[in-house]
Amino acid sequence: MNFDPTDEQRRWRDLARDFAQGEIRPRAADLDREQKFPYDIVADMARLGLMGLTLPEEYGGSGGDFVAYNLALEEISRADTSVGITMEAHISLGCAPIVAYGTQEQKEKFLSGCATGESLWAFGLTEEEAGTDAGGTRTTAELEGGEWIINGSKKWITNSGTDITAGATVIARTGTREGVRPELTAIIVPQDTSGYTRGKAYEKLGWRASDQHPLYFEDCHVPEENLLGERGRGFHQFLATLDGGRVAVAALSVGLAQACFDEALSRAKEREQFGRSISEFQAIQFKLADMAMEIELARNMVHKAAWMKEQGRSFGREASIAKVFASETAKRAADQAVQIWGGEGFMEPSAVARYWRQVKINEIGEGTSEINRQIIARSLLDESAEEAKEKMVAK
Ligand SMILES: Cc1cc2nc3c(=O)[nH]c(=O)nc-3n(C[C@H](O)[C@H](O)[C@H](O)COP(=O)(O)OP(=O)(O)OC[C@H]3O[C@@H](n4cnc5c(N)ncnc54)[C@H](O)[C@@H]3O)c2cc1C
Repeated sequence: MNFDPTDEQRRWRDLARDFAQGEIRPRAADLDREQKFPYDIVADMARLGLMGLTLPEEYGGSGGDFVAYNLALEEISRADTSVGITMEAHISLGCAPIVAYGTQEQKEKFLSGCATGESLWAFGLTEEEAGTDAGGTRTTAELEGGEWIINGSKKWITNSGTDITAGATVIARTGTREGVRPELTAIIVPQDTSGYTRGKAYEKLGWRASDQHPLYFEDCHVPEENLLGERGRGFHQFLATLDGGRVAVAALSVGLAQACFDEALSRAKEREQFGRSISEFQAIQFKLADMAMEIELARNMVHKAAWMKEQGRSFGREASIAKVFASETAKRAADQAVQIWGGEGFMEPSAVARYWRQVKINEIGEGTSEINRQIIARSLLDESAEEAKEKMVAK
């Protein structure tokens, strides 16, 4: 067993770390306060190859592996999870399905600008009635005269309304199967398509420098060839997309947990009470030790799940384990970081107050903790205890 990253993986991690600490971290508080999408940062990340890290080189991407991507994403998110989610939603949700299911022609047409990171691509699944229960999708797409006619709406779609967004892949109901089950299909919708509009950006608790909008489709026509993959395979496609996304959101959570730890450690060393550094109190030391332990475990789980995906193995359960554990680790780390900062940590200018606000979404986006626990439990129930243990230990 080898825990060392390859030279290439290390190169991506270090590149992301240097850029994140030098260019993103110093601006994270202002971006959060002003709720500004950081076009210049995203452009610089595109130039460095980070916005297309795993995307194929033939379309302008960087061709890096999935482990490298998660190492880089942790570093970006350690500086600012708003920028982290912009990178993650573009690569894992927006572009990965086009890479996985797109035709050659679709990849040339839609991936080229996106693989370099000059343009962004979004993924629209969630609706008013279809959150965790994506089968509740109401948006419809009807095939008529060689075109899909889309009607309905989506909500909270990341990267959908920036000045550099090129389009979205949208899950729509294209019929029913066995008379009852919705037939869900993925359809590519370029940004300038008539009948496709975006509503106002949301006011949010965290990820405030990232971009989310509601999407509206009113008799929106796109050519039949904008079908992504097979008709009726939308459900399968978004489940597979979300597996990859969950590992990445786990990496993002580890980055945020690490940022909480960084702040907690430096404050613990600096702050004096009762004539000595608070880091000399065992109560504070135990908090730091617990944070470090959990972060290490969460990071290892992210690396394992990412490595399994890279090996082409089934990794759905590991993705859910990583997502739940890392997001909850980050929540506990944010809480303890504020505690170690005391009243200063409750004041908005402090980084830990911002982290405390930002951390909650990690337990919700790309599958809530509840649904991920169900995925883990179901996968265990579906196989014998011995098989499960073998998979957990020896995979
Ligand atoms: C900032 C932000 C960005 C987002 N970006 C995107 C995006 O780019 N694309 C996209 O498609 N979506 C996006 N989403 C949507 C996100 O994926 C959903 O919020 C998430 O899937 C949960 O759906 P919901 O919020 O409707 O919660 P609900 O489904 O309404 O769930 C509410 C509560 O009930 C629980 N619950 C629901 N069903 C069950 C069950 N069967 N068993 C046990 N508990 C259950 C949930 O775990 C949760 O605690 C984004 C959301 C946010 C807030």
